[in-house]
Amino acid sequence: MKVIDRIKNTENRTLFSFEILPPLKGQNIKEIYDGIEPLMEFNPAFVDVTYHREEYFYKPLENGNLELKVIRKRPGTVGICAAIQHKYKVDAIPHVLCGGFSAEETENMLIELQFLGIDNLMALRGDAIKTETYFQAKPDGHRYATELVQQIKNLNKGIYIDETETAGANTDFCIGVAGYPEKHIEAPSLDFDIQNLKKKIENGADYIVTQMFFDNTKFFNFVDNCRSEGIHVPIIPGIKPLTSSSQLHLIPQRFHLDFPNELVEEVKKADSPQKVREIGVEWAIHQCKELIEYGVPVIHFYTMGKSANIKRIARSIF
Ligand code: FAD
Repeated sequence: MKVIDRIKNTENRTLFSFEILPPLKGQNIKEIYDGIEPLMEFNPAFVDVTYHREEYFYKPLENGNLELKVIRKRPGTVGICAAIQHKYKVDAIPHVLCGGFSAEETENMLIELQFLGIDNLMALRGDAIKTETYFQAKPDGHRYATELVQQIKNLNKGIYIDETETAGANTDFCIGVAGYPEKHIEAPSLDFDIQNLKKKIENGADYIVTQMFFDNTKFFNFVDNCRSEGIHVPIIPGIKPLTSSSQLHLIPQRFHLDFPNELVEEVKKADSPQKVREIGVEWAIHQCKELIEYGVPVIHFYTMGKSANIKRIARSIF
């Protein structure tokens, strides 16, 4: 079922969903199932599977030269989605990136997803790869998620990239896009970022999933700003519990977001890694209770491959 229909059919109740990562190359699908199974008792509305594009690195050779190598460490998003839908009868949502894809390769992936009975997808730009300062699209690829949304929406109308319209050959994807309560790292201002988010919705995106945040006020203000700019689609908060004190530094560096002082103080006082995890779980429970009271349609958890903490949080709130 499409995410927007699931939300419409569930009046006044907050749904549970979560995101998983494909396992590292060489590992088994069992790792995925082991991460999903403990969370199935909370009846997830959907399960997102992230996409990880190619990575470039220089391999030293015996003659002293360096050879440029390309690898994908976490392949398998499409296959994992198909396996999850088949095994658990829950909607699996693949993340589809602009980065690394030409429009034709994207079209082929979309056709494959339709054949697999996948109704929803998250349309994302992806980050710059390590060897680039700025994000660079592949020739004939998309520079922004807005353009990817446009391509998916066209295919939903049966318009393929050769611009022929094929009667009865349309897809019917429900499209999610990313939103950033504390702004995307590259955006010069939050207002600028929200204007670009609006373009994704105008091009046909159906719902928004946010980047993680630890201060609910940032989310509430973001929703207010979106609504006053005319964005009226469902906005789903993304929640990740803090699991180590090093994340106090790594998360702001990676995702451009602030931790509330109260949380920082508590973590600094903690005398063991276990205590930090406790604080992270309690903080997330508090956040979720407030978000449910506010009336969010879904709470979407970033599991990062670890379901134990998410299970504890879900037990307290669902
Ligand atoms: P866009 O919406 O294209 O925005 C990128 C930047 O460009 C923003 O600063 C925006 O303000 C600006 N911009 C947009 N349109 C225009 C325009 N027309 N002109 C000028 N500027 C513009 N990454 C992965 O690699 N794999 C994943 O599976 C993945 N899943 C994610 C899930 C969620 C819920 C979120 C929040 C992020 C996820 N990401 C993932 C990270 C995401 O790919 C990065 O944050 C990426 O840098 C931006 O993607 P976007 O889709 O938000 O880009």
